[in-house]
Amino acid sequence: MVVGDFPIETDTIVIGAGPGGYVAAIRAAQLGQKVTIVEKGSLGGVCLNVGCIPSKALIAASHRYESALHSDDMGIKAENVTVDFTKVQEWKAGVVKKLTSGVEGLLKGNKVEIVRGEAYFVDDHNIRVMDENSAQTYTFKNAIIATGSRPIELPSFKYSKRVIDSTGALSLEEIPNKLIVIGGGYVGTELGTAYANLGSEVTILEGADDILSGFEKQMTALVKRNLKKKNVEIVTKAMAKGVEETENGVKVTFDAKGEEKTIEADYVLVTVGRKPNTDELGLEQVGIKMTDRGVIEVDKQCRTSVNNIFAIGDIVPGPPLAHKASYEGKIAAEAISGHPSEVDYLGIPAVVFSEPELATVGYTEAQAKDEGLDITAAKFPFAANGRALALNNTDGFVKLITRKDDGLVIGAQIAGPSASDMISELGLAIEAGMTAEDIAMTIHAHPTLGEITMEAAEVALGTPIHIVK
Ligand SMILES: Cc1cc2nc3c(=O)[nH]c(=O)nc-3n(C[C@H](O)[C@H](O)[C@H](O)COP(=O)(O)OP(=O)(O)OC[C@H]3O[C@@H](n4cnc5c(N)ncnc54)[C@H](O)[C@@H]3O)c2cc1C
Repeated sequence: MVVGDFPIETDTIVIGAGPGGYVAAIRAAQLGQKVTIVEKGSLGGVCLNVGCIPSKALIAASHRYESALHSDDMGIKAENVTVDFTKVQEWKAGVVKKLTSGVEGLLKGNKVEIVRGEAYFVDDHNIRVMDENSAQTYTFKNAIIATGSRPIELPSFKYSKRVIDSTGALSLEEIPNKLIVIGGGYVGTELGTAYANLGSEVTILEGADDILSGFEKQMTALVKRNLKKKNVEIVTKAMAKGVEETENGVKVTFDAKGEEKTIEADYVLVTVGRKPNTDELGLEQVGIKMTDRGVIEVDKQCRTSVNNIFAIGDIVPGPPLAHKASYEGKIAAEAISGHPSEVDYLGIPAVVFSEPELATVGYTEAQAKDEGLDITAAKFPFAANGRALALNNTDGFVKLITRKDDGLVIGAQIAGPSASDMISELGLAIEAGMTAEDIAMTIHAHPTLGEITMEAAEVALGTPIHIVK
C-alpha cells in the first residue's frame, strides 16, 4: 500500500484490455468475482484498434477493388473503378469503433469496473494506476497481466512519417505509389498484399530464405505466385541496412546475395516482430520470473512464479495471436475462480489472410514425421470442388494429417479461399478426438468449400469420390 492513498479493493485486477485481458475480465466476472480492468490506451488492445480488425478491413476493401478490376473471366467489366482512400479509412475506423464500443458495453454489462491509466506493481497485492492527473492504488487478491506487445524498432530504421510500423501502415492517408516492406512475416505479407491490390508497387525484403516461415513450402509457393501476378517483388536473404529519408520518400539500402542495393519508395514499412510489454510494469518489485526469451514464465493455468499473479497473451510463450490470448484469458480466470482448467495448445490455429489464405492447426506433415509418428498426409485440391470453381477461385488444397493406425486427426493445413474459416472444423476434429472417418461420414452441404475437407478425409481413407486414386 502507498502511504497517503486510500486503496480500492477488488478481487481480480486485469492489466490490459486487449483480446486477452477483456475476455479474462468478463469470464472472471461471470464466475462471480469483483473485477477491475486497467487500460492505458484503447479498449480492445492491439487486435481491435491497430491489428487484426483494421488489417482485415483494409484487406477486404483492397479485395473489393481488385476483384472489381479483374472479373473479366466471369464476363464482368467495370470501367472507371476508383478508390476513395479517405473513405476506406473512415469505413475501417467505423468497424473498429463498433467493436471497441461493443467491448466497453460487454465489460459494463458484466459489471467489470473499467479504470483508465497505466498500471505498475507496488507489490504482489497492490498496483498503482497513474494517468496524467492522478494516481490510485488498487489492492487485489489476484491479478492477470495482459499487457500485450509493441512493434520492434530496428536501430537503423527509426520510426518517422515515412519509416512506419504496422500501425502507421494501417493509418496512411494516401495509397503509396511505392512501398517497401521489411519482413515477410504474416503482417508484412498481408499489408503488402493489401497495398498491392490498391495499386502500390510493393517490394518485400525478407532476411530468411522464404517469406511466411512456419508455413509449408507448398503453401507459401501459392502465395508467392499470386504476389508475383500483382507485381510484388520478393527479395529473400535480404538484410536491410539503413534508410535515408528524402523530401518525399525513402531510400532503403540492403544486402542481397553479397551485393549492396538501394531502392526508393514513398514509405518503408518495418515489420520484423514484436516486443512484449513487460519492461515498465514493475515486475521486478514482485519477483516474477521471465524466460530466456524475455517473456513471462507461466504454468498450464497461466500462473506466474508468484502464486496469485497470472499472465496471458503476447507476454507469455507461444505464438502472439489474439485467439491464443483470449483462450488463455478464460483459463486464467477459471483457475483464479478455483476451476481445474489448463491450457492445451494442440488445437491452436494460425492463419495468414494472404491470397490464397493459409491456415494450419495441430501437426504439419514434417512435424509429425520429425516426431517419428506414423501418419497419412491426405490432400484434396480446391480445383476439384464445384463451389471453388463457381467462385472462380481454385488455387489451393486441404491437407489432413491422420494417425495411420487409428485414423485420428492430429493436424491440418489449408491453402485456399476461406481457409481461415474452414480451419475451425479441423480444430474441432482435433479437440474432439475425431478420426478421418468421422469427417468423411459427416454430411457436408453441397456445393460448399467444406466438402473439400470431407473429400480430404476420404483421401485419407483411400475412398475419394471426386478425384481418381
Ligand atoms: C497488424 C497486425 C495484424 C494482426 N492480425 C492478427 C490476426 O489476424 N489474428 C490474430 O490472431 N492476431 C493478429 N495480430 C496479433 C494480435 O493483435 C495480438 O496477438 C493480440 O492483440 C494480443 O493480445 P493481448 O491481449 O495479449 O495484448 P494487446 O492486444 O497488445 O493488448 C494489451 C493492452 O494492454 C495495454 N497496456 C499495456 N501496458 C499497460 C499498463 N502498464 N497498464 C495498463 N494497460 C496497459 C495496452 O494499451 C493494450 O491495450 C495482429 C497484430 C498486428 C500488429
